[in-house]
Amino acid sequence: MYMNGEWQMPAKDRLASLINPADGTSIGTTAMATARDAKNAIGAANNAYDEWSALPPSERADYLYQIAHQLEKRKEEISKWETRNNGKPLRETSADVETASECFRYYAGLISSTDGYTFTSGTEIQGLVTYEPIGVCGLIIPWNHPILITAWKIAPALAAGNTIVLKPSEYTPISAYMLYEIFDQVGLPKGVANLVPGGGDEVGATMTNSTAIDKVSFTGGTETGKKIMAAAANNITNVTLELGGKSPVIVFADADIEHAVDHALYAIYFGSGQVCSAGSRILVEESAYEKFVDHFVARAKQIRVGPGEHEQTEMGPLYTESHMNNVLADIKRGEEEGATLRCGGNRMHGEGLDHGFFVAPTVFTDVNEDMSIVQEEIFGPVVVIQKFTHEKEAVSLANKTKYGLAAAVFTGDSAKGMRVIRGVKAGLTGINTYGMGDVKAPWGGPKMSGIGRSLGPDGLKEFQEAKQINVALYNEKLGWFAN
Ligand code: NAD
Repeated sequence: MYMNGEWQMPAKDRLASLINPADGTSIGTTAMATARDAKNAIGAANNAYDEWSALPPSERADYLYQIAHQLEKRKEEISKWETRNNGKPLRETSADVETASECFRYYAGLISSTDGYTFTSGTEIQGLVTYEPIGVCGLIIPWNHPILITAWKIAPALAAGNTIVLKPSEYTPISAYMLYEIFDQVGLPKGVANLVPGGGDEVGATMTNSTAIDKVSFTGGTETGKKIMAAAANNITNVTLELGGKSPVIVFADADIEHAVDHALYAIYFGSGQVCSAGSRILVEESAYEKFVDHFVARAKQIRVGPGEHEQTEMGPLYTESHMNNVLADIKRGEEEGATLRCGGNRMHGEGLDHGFFVAPTVFTDVNEDMSIVQEEIFGPVVVIQKFTHEKEAVSLANKTKYGLAAAVFTGDSAKGMRVIRGVKAGLTGINTYGMGDVKAPWGGPKMSGIGRSLGPDGLKEFQEAKQINVALYNEKLGWFAN
């Protein structure tokens, strides 16, 4: 654990083993902090707040620039450990470290270059609007993009002048440890950033129930999000929730089908489908349906699945054995519901795969919107391909889940593409691309996909409170009451 600028060991019985999902071997141990540890960390963050929040933004930015630089320098080492811990191929984890570094740089620049604004109210008032830090922020991270989502939260939180307590996922804390080594190295003032690895029910719940936490920023599952919102309601704690998705990829017959297939493969199999914005539902116009399915299935079968540390690997394992079993159970349910399994559906075996948690790229067709595999987030390499006959139906099907995170449309008609995207309720969208996501633009979505946004200027605002300051230009009486 890292608290008040010091590394601390947890109690002897508070250590848990970390498993490499590519081969089931133990790769180390992590602290499983207690509720008391979490309270100590929150105390340290409170003590550090006044000094950190009073620093000029440019001085806070200097720390962020140094962190960005160190992340870049240690990219290879961090991405290797992230791959061992989470399973993702090296090309994905090294992109995550690069983007994490970019995120620190971006918020260093943004906080140095943006400020509040002024307004005038009648002739008597000159007004100012300032953006102040919120206070102590509790940041709760999932296992699927550990270093990336950690940076998405820490960079804007610190830039804005908040102090923080970070709880990484109990399954994937290694890159957070490495990031805190960097904080130590760049001399971040004591107590500004604290790290309490541990379980959600203990450390996470202590954070969300604490009256000494002013903001909770959470990324994770929708069911956990509901618990966090309920806990935060007791103290009216400000929350940002980045939750799940079941995002549609809509393909019209006038699209370049090879191009659409290429993007749709990336949309679902990147990160083995363990991505909140995964394009897990493909909707294809009837006249192009068979051609699309044939090409998609042929390409899915060719994906090179293997340990993330092997250079040639294109798709890695699922992050734990129990998650793999859940995904396999969801696939079985899809078959029982009457969907046609076109490829995959099984745990993979063979050289280098036997001890890991590998599931083959899976495709279902002949599905309808009542099936659980069409409605529920599976969070694995499983996609359903549906048919539609006209534009209105495509939009209606796209919107027929409880989620609203991402969506993309593929068409040769740009006006139609724009109309469809305007009709789809989602926060991250693309026309003829699924390559979404840039630190400069807001990330998040409506409905049960969450509340608030990460990244871009919107992501900074999530860690700020707006204040209006009204300055009287004349000292005249108001005279509202006669005496
Ligand atoms: P999860 O909800 O199980 O856990 C997320 C974090 O919450 C972990 O650190 C966990 O320990 C903690 N937690 C669990 N119970 C808690 C509680 N009662 N109080 C406080 N904290 C608690 O999610 P996961 O399995 O780690 O991640 C997968 C989910 O995250 C998927 O649903 C995915 O869609 C979502 N996700 C969303 C985004 C986004 O930006 N919208 C990004 C990545 C992942």
